[in-house]
Amino acid sequence: CGIVGYIGKRDVAPLLLEGLQRLEYRGYDSAGVVITSPKATGLKMVKAKGRVRDLEAKVPARFKGTTGIAHTRWATHGAPSDENAHPHMSGDNKVAVVHNGIIDNAAELRVKLTAEGVEFLSETDTEVLTHLIARSQATDLEDKVREALRLIEGTYGIAVVHADFPDRIVVARNGSPVVLGIGDKEMFVASDIAALVSHTRQIVTLDDGEMATLKADDFRTYTTEGTRTTASPTTVEWEA
Ligand code: GLU
Repeated sequence: CGIVGYIGKRDVAPLLLEGLQRLEYRGYDSAGVVITSPKATGLKMVKAKGRVRDLEAKVPARFKGTTGIAHTRWATHGAPSDENAHPHMSGDNKVAVVHNGIIDNAAELRVKLTAEGVEFLSETDTEVLTHLIARSQATDLEDKVREALRLIEGTYGIAVVHADFPDRIVVARNGSPVVLGIGDKEMFVASDIAALVSHTRQIVTLDDGEMATLKADDFRTYTTEGTRTTASPTTVEWEA
């Protein structure tokens, strides 16, 4: 339903929670957030059924980071619950994914992955994507995501963080909106510009079949096949 992400220098959790609040008008049944930082040794995640304030109430006092992604869910596969809320993490806690849309071949992929020994923690279609990324042998996070996307059918707007690549967020779009917000030594991503405009008016809208890598001081866009695309930010007008 709603995605928001940030990479930069600021304390990320309050920023992401505020972003989720700006997406509340779209409706949702649960919410979650995962954070990291360049010096962190892993990912930290909190999820909650209910409203953003229910999530906020569960966030521990020391939940510090400068990179993170967050989600409000509108369930399509699996009932609203803490477990089914996004992000979805791999068994080794290295990969976290938030996803808008529907993966049509999730049931088949789940059977296949389960046969390979993967343990599923939720009933969502999204979780297959997490495990596909985690088991990819590719060296770069971008290639891991690309390999996973090649195996799925359906619609997605996704944002991915990986404990071994704390300097970046990788995002992709196919049939579900993803916009980048370009800041000064900080970058934002969201499914809706409403979550970004209080921070930046410099926006890049991804096309279907496009991916992007966000780093604090840089972004690049490319197709899911890996060809670079040109994306110049446009300035949006917005009544606050
Ligand atoms: N299909 C996913 C789920 O049920 C994502 C739903 C959404 O777009 O919020 O978890």
